[in-house]
Amino acid sequence: MVIVKHILRGILPALLWFAAGPASAWSNHALGTWQALSVMPEMKSAAPVKVERLETFLAAEDVALEKVLAQEEAWVRANVPVYPPRPEALAFRSSGQPAELRQRFISAVRINPELKLNLFLQLRPGEQLNGRPGLPWAEVTTLRGETTAREITFQDLAEGDTVAPLDVLATASDEPDYGMDLGLWENNETAYGKTYGFGKQPFGNPALEFSSQAPFHMGFYHEAGIIYLAAGFLKRTYPEYRIHLWQTLAVHALRSGHAYWGWRFAGWALHYQQDLSQPYHARVLPGVGVARMLWINSVDLLGYHAAKDHAITLVSNRHLALENYQYHRMRAAYLRPDPDDALMLACRDTARDLAYAPYDDNSPRQVIAKEAQTMADAADTALEQSLPAHYIADPGYDFGKSEKGVDIFEVSGKSPQSAQQALTGLTAELLRNVGAHTRSLVRSLLARSGASR
Ligand SMILES: [Zn+2]
Repeated sequence: MVIVKHILRGILPALLWFAAGPASAWSNHALGTWQALSVMPEMKSAAPVKVERLETFLAAEDVALEKVLAQEEAWVRANVPVYPPRPEALAFRSSGQPAELRQRFISAVRINPELKLNLFLQLRPGEQLNGRPGLPWAEVTTLRGETTAREITFQDLAEGDTVAPLDVLATASDEPDYGMDLGLWENNETAYGKTYGFGKQPFGNPALEFSSQAPFHMGFYHEAGIIYLAAGFLKRTYPEYRIHLWQTLAVHALRSGHAYWGWRFAGWALHYQQDLSQPYHARVLPGVGVARMLWINSVDLLGYHAAKDHAITLVSNRHLALENYQYHRMRAAYLRPDPDDALMLACRDTARDLAYAPYDDNSPRQVIAKEAQTMADAADTALEQSLPAHYIADPGYDFGKSEKGVDIFEVSGKSPQSAQQALTGLTAELLRNVGAHTRSLVRSLLARSGASR
């Protein structure tokens, strides 16, 4: 066993360095959320809600939130394995000026304080502002490099504006990828990371800006036992913490008459849950068995590094290719528009909604991540068989470095018909799951908040 540990310790950190690179999962979650919820009459025809600044919400609810967040912390400590407790000094306290409340809230929920949390809506691809004020993408995200936010039109909102809950939810479901979870670890060289109590970044390269969010957006809950034995740090993934926290705040805000923040928090919860349906977020190395990992690393230890380097590059390339394909295909469907594109239909497909038990706190781990990890090997194979080898089977090609300008949906159009169908089938299957789980979580929030009555 010691030898196995030694072998795995050699390979896992290196593989995860890459696994943690492309951590956005579905690129632009709003595209799927709009579709998934458009078939829920409660959301489609929901009355508009009044936009409210975060400070206004906090000032109105500060006393109640102190209790709600204390109870939430107790729940997470009792229910989320290897949860790093929130330091007592960061507990939310009521009273104080609005700016101070905002700071205390951000510290209590331990998010990146550089995120502005402006008031905005994302517009659907192709939709015009038509005289409404716009908001530059740099005002919604802290990312300055590779972000799909650059291609999105944002509408600037003001307190008192009225907006559709569906648009608030869809917009917010993309927001956790705008820098919310960046720099939170104590070795991320940020002042806040040193106070948040999350410890050192469990995997990923802390020097890379985007990688530090990965442990919050991935859930490695169903690896082989031997993997955890060798690499205990893999247990330190926290989407369950985020999902529960944002749900709790959503229910409180909806119940207390702050519907805008209710739906915005709900969208944040949806994001992490949707991430768990991406097989490359629910399995460390889809397509690579434990025995093969051991072999790869054994030859690596003997000085033959090519096999390990190849495995790392291929897993990373396929992860990125899947997200790139989904993003470009759905964006194109909005732009044409083609509401009956297979991926759009998959998000709206309610056929399986009743096949799942109603959403509960075990769903993210036991249902959603489990389902994605079960599909991981098949997904990996489908990608390998459907796309040109250059993108997914050539260890000399680094998708991460060359992605700019690459449109895998367009590339796939040149593949044989059967390959195109296989890729459509795989992605639609995954998005069918995303759609069903998205509606399931929203239904549970409506029931808990009394908003469905
Ligand atoms: Zn994410």
